[in-house]
Amino acid sequence: MQQNLWGELEDCIPLQRRPSKTSLSASTFIHIDGICTMQGHSWEYFGITGLKVCSVCGIKGFCPGCTPQPPVKEAKPFFCTEHTPPESGV
Ligand SMILES: [Zn+2]
Ligand SMILES: [Zn+2]
Repeated sequence: MQQNLWGELEDCIPLQRRPSKTSLSASTFIHIDGICTMQGHSWEYFGITGLKVCSVCGIKGFCPGCTPQPPVKEAKPFFCTEHTPPESGV
């Protein structure tokens, strides 16, 4: 479990540490929502409930394929990689 979490976090760290051509400042945090849009949310799972929370933007979600009913009312349906419909992925 811990290795999985670190592996997902590592995807975000290089973006913040590598300014590429433009030097990033505190405005990096403004683009956090954009990072989720481009790379997908960095989900952290909460065991048997099926509830997952994005460690970047904090949105709550669940996979309708894994958990038919939302574990909490405000959770929004996000298909996991296993249940993402192949045709609607693009
Ligand atoms: Zn997110
Ligand atoms: Zn699933």
